[in-house]
Amino acid sequence: MALIVQKYGGTSVGDVDRIKNVAARIKASRDEGHQLVVVVSARAGVTNELIARAKALNPRPDTREMDMLLAVGEQETIALTAMALHALDVPAVSYTGAQAGIFTDLAHTKAKIKNIVPTALRKDLKAGKVIIVAGFQGLNEQGQITTLGRGGSDLTAIAMAAALQADKCEIYTDVDGVYTADPRQVKDARKLEEISYDEMLELASQGSKVMQSRSVEFAKKYGVVFEVRSSFNHNPGTIVKEEVAYMEKVVVRGVAVDKDQAKVVISNLPDKPGTAAAVLRALADANINVDMIVQNVGHHGVASLTFTVPKEDAHQAVKILPATFRKVGGGEVAAYDNIAKLSVVGVGMRTHAGVAAQMFEALAEKGVNIELITTSEIKITLAIARDRADDAQRAVHAAFGLGKPA
Ligand code: ADP
Ligand code: ASP
Ligand code: MG
Repeated sequence: MALIVQKYGGTSVGDVDRIKNVAARIKASRDEGHQLVVVVSARAGVTNELIARAKALNPRPDTREMDMLLAVGEQETIALTAMALHALDVPAVSYTGAQAGIFTDLAHTKAKIKNIVPTALRKDLKAGKVIIVAGFQGLNEQGQITTLGRGGSDLTAIAMAAALQADKCEIYTDVDGVYTADPRQVKDARKLEEISYDEMLELASQGSKVMQSRSVEFAKKYGVVFEVRSSFNHNPGTIVKEEVAYMEKVVVRGVAVDKDQAKVVISNLPDKPGTAAAVLRALADANINVDMIVQNVGHHGVASLTFTVPKEDAHQAVKILPATFRKVGGGEVAAYDNIAKLSVVGVGMRTHAGVAAQMFEALAEKGVNIELITTSEIKITLAIARDRADDAQRAVHAAFGLGKPA
C-alpha cells in the first residue's frame, strides 16, 4: 500500500463531468489499495473571473479581501469532488487549506508555506478516507486566509507530499507531461520522459506555466520526485527529479516564452555611484521584481537603465520612480509592454559552447531583433518584440532539433 498525493488542475475539474472523471480515477487508485490525498484547483477560469470582479469594484483591491475571495474557487471543487466520490461509495472528506494545517507567512496573495501540521488529516486517512485538500490556500499566524500565488495548487500538492512523506506525487493536468515547448503553441513539441529540477525551475520561471515555479523550488529543496501527467488519458508523463550525469548530454531541454512582461526604460539618469542602487531600492520596496537589467555607458554625465518587470507592475514602476529621480537629481521613465521573453534551458549548456550563437543565428534568419540578453549557467533569455514571439519560439525550437522526428 502506497501513500499517493495527486493534484488535479483547473481544466481537469472544469465541470461536473470532469469532476466525475476525476472521482473515477481516484476510486481506481484506491481500489488498487493505495491511500490518497488529493489536491484540487478551482474550476478553470474561476480564479480569473473572481479577480476581474474584484477589479471592477476596486482597481487596487485590499489583499486580505482578495485572498478571502480567491479561496472560494477551490472550496467549491473540494466539496464537489468529495460528493462525486460519495456517489461512487468512496468515503471522502474535504479539507480547506486551514483545516489541512497549511501554515503560511503573512504575504497575502503570494504567501509562502512555512509548515504543515496534518494531524486531523492523518486521522481521517488512517480511517480509510480519501482526503480532498483545497489547493492554493493556507492560513497565516494571524488566523487569516492566504493564497500562494497563481498556479499555487501545484505548491500545495508538493508541500503535502513532503509533509506526509508520500510514496508518490502525481500532478494531473490537461497535457501529457512537460514538453520541449508549450504543445499548444509549437505543434511538433516533444514530451520529455524526465527533466531535472533546475531545468523545470528555469522553464517555469521563464513562462512555462505547466508548473508553478515556486512549487518546483520546494520540490528541489525537499527532494520530492513528482510526475506531470494527463487526467484525460493513461499515458506515462514526465518525471521531475534531481539531475543525473547523463542529463548533461542534452544541450537544450526546452524553450519557454513569457508574454506577460514589460520593458522599463529610464533615461537621463545622473551617471554617478548610487543612482542605480536608489532606483532598484525604490522598486524593491514596492515589491516589484526586476529582471534583465542593462545599463548603458554614460555620456555627458547621464546614463540610461533598462530592465523588465511583470506587465502588471509596469504602471506602478512608472508611478513611483519620479520621487527617486527628485532625490538623485534627474531621470525620466517610460514603460513599453510590447515585449516578450524567449528562453532556452538545458543543463548541458554548462559543458557545451556555442548555444548563444546558435540561438542568435536562428533569430537573425527570421529577422527578429534582440533587445536585451541575460544568461545563467543553464539558460539564455532574450527580450524580443511580442508580436514575433511565437515565430521566434518555433525557429529556436527547430534550430536545436527539439521537435518530434518527422
Ligand atoms: P492546470 O490547470 O492543470 O494547473 P495549467 O494551465 O496551469 O494547468 O498548465 C498546463 C498548461 O501549461 C498546458 O495546457 C500548456 O498549454 C501549458 N504549457 C506551457 N509550457 C508547457 C510545456 N513546456 N509543457 C507542457 N505544457 C506547457
Ligand atoms: N486557482 C488558482 C489559479 O488559478 C490556483 C491553481 O489553479 O493552481 O491560479
Ligand atoms: Mg497550473
